[in-house]
Amino acid sequence: MKVYFLGTGTSQGIPVIGSNHPVCKSTDFKDKRLRVSVWISWENYSFIIDCGPDFRQQMLSSNCQKVDGILFTHEHADHTAGIDDIRPFNFKQGEIPIYAHQRVIDNLRRRFDYVFETVNKYPGAPSVATIEVVNNEPFCLGNKTVIPIDVMHGNLQVFGYRIDDFAYLTDVKTIKKSEIEKLENLKVLVINALREEPHDTHFNLKEALDFITLVQPKKAYLTHISHIMGYHEEVQKNLPDNVFLAFDNLEITI
Ligand SMILES: [Zn+2]
Repeated sequence: MKVYFLGTGTSQGIPVIGSNHPVCKSTDFKDKRLRVSVWISWENYSFIIDCGPDFRQQMLSSNCQKVDGILFTHEHADHTAGIDDIRPFNFKQGEIPIYAHQRVIDNLRRRFDYVFETVNKYPGAPSVATIEVVNNEPFCLGNKTVIPIDVMHGNLQVFGYRIDDFAYLTDVKTIKKSEIEKLENLKVLVINALREEPHDTHFNLKEALDFITLVQPKKAYLTHISHIMGYHEEVQKNLPDNVFLAFDNLEITI
């Protein structure tokens, strides 16, 4: 299975519009971060997790040719605002399955009502088939099984997803013991780490590292990173040997 980091930045992306922060001014390509998303592929299957406002650019730079489905973590705009741009895939493939909590499906129905129109729908509008994700109910994705991981982003429920020995968790602040148990024996864990300073709804760096120590994956990749975390190169130097700061267009094989 291949995991391609389409975006690794927090909600504003890096550089932040109008910012003179040195990380926003950095010329290192690893300091440029689009909104968080990953592309997961194996055999002939191709799925993405989240579809933020940078989706179009991400599909172009990764050269992704098809999307068999989109797994949503939650409804926040940095994870969903790109849904209109799935149309080129619709034109080639038809309807695209989207997997999400029922609350997220309802939210998308309100915000992108034209996508879900049944009467007089504009022929060029995006087309999706909704599949509700329910905690403790693993579901099939191609020929693999996905285990939903129920976490909290402040007061908002968010789904992480485990596929084989890979787990992707973003926008986590707290996680129950029963959910941590679903993360045993991982080869790769992707987990959010916003910055060094604490934050109300995201793990900071220390919380993410403590969580990695608890879960003990073979390797961990940090994502959903703010510019105030610092330069990629500097932050990476101080991380444990099996922990990596993810960066845009990084591809790993599991
Ligand atoms: Zn987010």
